[in-house]
Amino acid sequence: MRKYPIEKYRNIGIIAHIDAGKTTVTERVLFYTGISHKIGEVHEGKAIMDWMEQERERGITITSAATTCFWSPEEYLTKEKTNEHRFNIIDTPGHIDFTVEVQRSLRVLDGAVVVFDGVAGVEPQSETVWRQADKFKVPRICFINKLDRIGASFEKSFNSIVQKLSPNACAVQIPIGEEQNLSGVVDLFSMKALKFEGNLGEKVKLEEIPSGLLEKAHKWRDKMVEKIAAEDENLLEKYLAREEISIEDLRRVLRQATINYKLIPVFCGSALKNTGVQPLLDGVVYYLPSPVDLPAIIGVDSKTGKEISRKSDDSEPFTALAFKVATDPYVGALTYFRVYAGTLSKGSYILNTTTREKERLGRILRMHAAEREEVDELFSGDIAATVGLKNTSTGHTLCDPDSVPIVLEEITFPEPVIAIRIEPKTKADQEKMGMALHRLAEEDPTFRIKGDPDTGETIISGMGELHLDILVDRMKREFKVEASVGRPQVAYKETIKTEAEAEGKYIRQSGGRGQYGHVWLRVESKERGQGFEFIDEIKGGIIPKEFIPAVEKGIKEAMLKGVVAGYPLIDMSVALYDGSFHEVDSSEIAFKIAGSQALQSATKRAKPILLEPIMKLEVIVPENFLGDVMGNLSARRGKIEETSDRLNLKVIDAKVPLAEMFGYATSLRSLTEGRGTFTMEFDKYEEVPGNIAREIAEGKRR
Ligand code: GDP
Repeated sequence: MRKYPIEKYRNIGIIAHIDAGKTTVTERVLFYTGISHKIGEVHEGKAIMDWMEQERERGITITSAATTCFWSPEEYLTKEKTNEHRFNIIDTPGHIDFTVEVQRSLRVLDGAVVVFDGVAGVEPQSETVWRQADKFKVPRICFINKLDRIGASFEKSFNSIVQKLSPNACAVQIPIGEEQNLSGVVDLFSMKALKFEGNLGEKVKLEEIPSGLLEKAHKWRDKMVEKIAAEDENLLEKYLAREEISIEDLRRVLRQATINYKLIPVFCGSALKNTGVQPLLDGVVYYLPSPVDLPAIIGVDSKTGKEISRKSDDSEPFTALAFKVATDPYVGALTYFRVYAGTLSKGSYILNTTTREKERLGRILRMHAAEREEVDELFSGDIAATVGLKNTSTGHTLCDPDSVPIVLEEITFPEPVIAIRIEPKTKADQEKMGMALHRLAEEDPTFRIKGDPDTGETIISGMGELHLDILVDRMKREFKVEASVGRPQVAYKETIKTEAEAEGKYIRQSGGRGQYGHVWLRVESKERGQGFEFIDEIKGGIIPKEFIPAVEKGIKEAMLKGVVAGYPLIDMSVALYDGSFHEVDSSEIAFKIAGSQALQSATKRAKPILLEPIMKLEVIVPENFLGDVMGNLSARRGKIEETSDRLNLKVIDAKVPLAEMFGYATSLRSLTEGRGTFTMEFDKYEEVPGNIAREIAEGKRR
């Protein structure tokens, strides 16, 4: 039986620029909601959400663990638990290199709390995350944190939100005092002062607004009421007639406007000084959507391709999205999933519509920060984890095997664009390293491993330098493998431009049993992204069936090293159309070698070229820096596609080769006095210009 009505669910994430105080806010949330009974300060390294060792050390949050807790708004004043809500908090990282983590968490959230540093206001990465939240249409509320710090300013920070992020920001509180004088917040609805007393701010008192602040508070309230009233005809009439509008009406309209991305309520305080967190939690209840406030989830019938939708309703067929696979030291692989529709009980079968495999669901776990609770049943809107699913990865749809097999839109992951060589420090580390890398790759779809066939070295690739750095660090801590890494390199590829044929012969006849393999291959180029295809055109057994897989294997091995500069060949087809064999001397190994040789000769004749990853870049700068930034991009072989306006800033859309983008963050910072921001993602592979390709092939450029 469902215990919590779905209207009382809030699936939220707390998102922020690194260091804005997300971890501290989360800690306070867990404390006030009664999950943790002791506040572990971040700087003492005791944060609850950051349960992975090196996250604690770096003070940043990488994995998206999900945590459940409960909150009744204003219970701290009324002492009545009449309106309890269930929060599922999905952890989101703040660093851009962890795009996968941010995207997969934004995908399953219904709403977000965005935390800002009250000294810095909107920082570059807050803009990045904000835009991602726009893309996923996530309703949000803001919290201007750290108002106790020297240099903090609510007004400046609020204005930076309005100017840089959204004119729809709407302050619903103002601080009482700032810097060392911060002593509470004014609630602009009730026009009362909230004070936070007791050791940890757990005793909340309602007082009159200090007289010196009254006029200012009235001004801010007027602005708030005007913004809210503009969203509703009835309220607007009342507002224009100067009639009093009730708090309930204001909240109701602000809630609708927040859910429809029309307004963004802004709260304030200091998590560290235990000021303002409880009313922020009320804000989650009042303004952020429950699953039923959002449109039904859309997917396609995997059999017919027809679009279907499922409502957030227990009577619908079970529909869920796996959004994270994590390796847990105690229970093994944990699959986190969000239930969009229907219900699910322990031990039942589910269909993974992405892989078309049925799996039996073992234990269902609800995560409470570091602890877990076992549950028997899940309902729509729930977020939980399960253990023991074998073939379910991030982004797969799980559904009821007896109804229409729905596939929800997959979470798309960018291609890894940076590679580094990694070497175990000792022989003993060698074996462990393979296992550790494999485990980490299972968790993270943008992290890949491969062996270099020439040197026997291992190459890992991912989304950025920090991304790979963290993974190497995790390997050291969690798997106790010591490794050293090389310098980051661009993941080049090779392909061919035309068609060619070539022969491969491996014949040795020197006494005893010899070797005999002989093939003719034809290679043809394919469109970008079409991959590799092997075509068997052998007729009449001129090469016996049992040797054909060996030829294919030889071809694939040769493709890994390419012919221009040793990078993997992609996007081509290879047809095996002729050859011969010897009754006694032919062997798999001989055919494999013949296949490799023929592939190399054919590729060399088919105009082989080098390909490089081209990045889609968006740079946002104040107008006075536009010229310099564009000039710098041209010098980096960038192609400007468009420049446009966003609020009072200029947006440049460009395509630039990744090879030219190392160190771009630093150079943009110095070109724009720190005001420029950018986001970059992989777009496609393109031919490297001839002179540069030559330098790469000759090893002059890396
Ligand atoms: P995260 O990187 O966003 O998770 O930020 P943390 O919660 O780890 O906070 C970064 C630093 O800012 C830590 O040293 C915190 O103690 C400190 N901090 C967090 N909130 C506040 C605040 O409200 N006031 C002050 N003065 N410091 C804060």
